[in-house]
Amino acid sequence: MKKTDELRKKLTYSRKNFWNEASVKEQKEALNFSEGYKNFLDECKTERESIDYYVKELEKQGYKEIEKAKKAKKVFRISRNKNAGIAIIGRKPISEGVNLIVSHIDAPRVDLKQNPLHEDGSTNLGMMKTHYYGGIKKYQWMSTPLALHGTFIKKNGKSVKITIGEDDKDPVFVMPDLLPHLARKVQYTKKIGEAIDAGKMNLVFNSIPYPKDNETKEAVKLNALVLLNEKYDIVEEDFLSAEIEIVPAGKARDAGIDRSLVLGYGQDDRICAYTSACALFDAKDKLEKTAIVYLADKEEIGSDGNTGAKSIFIIDFIADLLKHNGENFDSSTLRKALINSQVLSADVNAGINPNFPSVHEKENAVHIGFGVSVTKFTGSGGKGGSNDANAEFNSKIIDIYNKEGVSWQTGALGKVDEGGGGTIAKFMAEHGAEVIDCGPGVLGMHSLYELTSKADIYSSYKAYKAFFENA
Ligand code: MN
Ligand code: MN
Repeated sequence: MKKTDELRKKLTYSRKNFWNEASVKEQKEALNFSEGYKNFLDECKTERESIDYYVKELEKQGYKEIEKAKKAKKVFRISRNKNAGIAIIGRKPISEGVNLIVSHIDAPRVDLKQNPLHEDGSTNLGMMKTHYYGGIKKYQWMSTPLALHGTFIKKNGKSVKITIGEDDKDPVFVMPDLLPHLARKVQYTKKIGEAIDAGKMNLVFNSIPYPKDNETKEAVKLNALVLLNEKYDIVEEDFLSAEIEIVPAGKARDAGIDRSLVLGYGQDDRICAYTSACALFDAKDKLEKTAIVYLADKEEIGSDGNTGAKSIFIIDFIADLLKHNGENFDSSTLRKALINSQVLSADVNAGINPNFPSVHEKENAVHIGFGVSVTKFTGSGGKGGSNDANAEFNSKIIDIYNKEGVSWQTGALGKVDEGGGGTIAKFMAEHGAEVIDCGPGVLGMHSLYELTSKADIYSSYKAYKAFFENA
């Protein structure tokens, strides 16, 4: 090797393409790993469905509800059907700190309004009014097939779950966009973010009037209620308390002629939920430190609410783990446990989009296919609203990944002053733990069809497993 090449190899850093570096065996493992992941995306399009999935999975994996099994080493707690803590008790006392990976299982979507159903006076179509949830580009949701997923709680307290639009035989729904021919004044003169206002995001629900009596007022709306009552035994008032979410209809797919990518809804952040839970399930026996996977709700609207990461849920779960493990669980011991803990805030980052490279700074941006991103800070402007991980902890994580052969890179969300965003990291850091963001890159984040690399999905799994086993 020439001297300059030697020096370059020894002294310089450059991120590496997983597909160049990985062995043939590991490439195959990466491609195979995504099969289970796509199934997970298909089954879990809402936070509630994600929890339902893990209730089944945890039973299969031999985990016990923490209250119900005194001696169990693998325990969990579900909270309000929307978030969960899952733990394996380690050899060391919990008061010396835990290794926790937090991700979120909510995704940007469109909800039905509480009183959604109405009959449009000018067209006599049955329509559903909506209210969007999280950061969406509203125009992306128009004129595309949509499905309804949700839960009604009836007057007798019984819950009724619905999914309409996912089975091939199901009908789907749509919020029709305006034809280009007539869009000149109403849309084309506006800024792109204003072209669709929220009041125009109404879903076409039905069109046939109730047939028995031509004179019936709002017969189309009545017919919708008759059909819903026949199928689900609900009445209009049941909508007022219901949680019905509108999501893109259809399954996650392989993308690219080489099938190296996954296209699907809600990968932010179910990609990290799935890979961190797999990492916990596959972690070696007899972990040194207690390992926890925390699946949080409400991240897309600021982590508020009693199922969001700002709630007391995870702290309370760690307190109960102390108690479960026969340790002191007074507030001082709990605080020390938290301060001694290490947290990966597992969330997606923005990969460089070849169609819009100008918003990224190439040397510091995430490249999809180049492994999981270790992201020191997020936020916007002068790092505002960011956790900004400590160099010592950042270096420790990188060192583990290097030793364990994890394909990783560093990543920043975008050019400075281009925009920005935050994650759960800062809420976990409030309790004194070491926290760093770590997750795969995504193209088209928050769109109906997010694109990820199978190399990064697999690398995230490996990174999370290495963290539980070595940090
Ligand atoms: Mn996210
Ligand atoms: Mn998001």
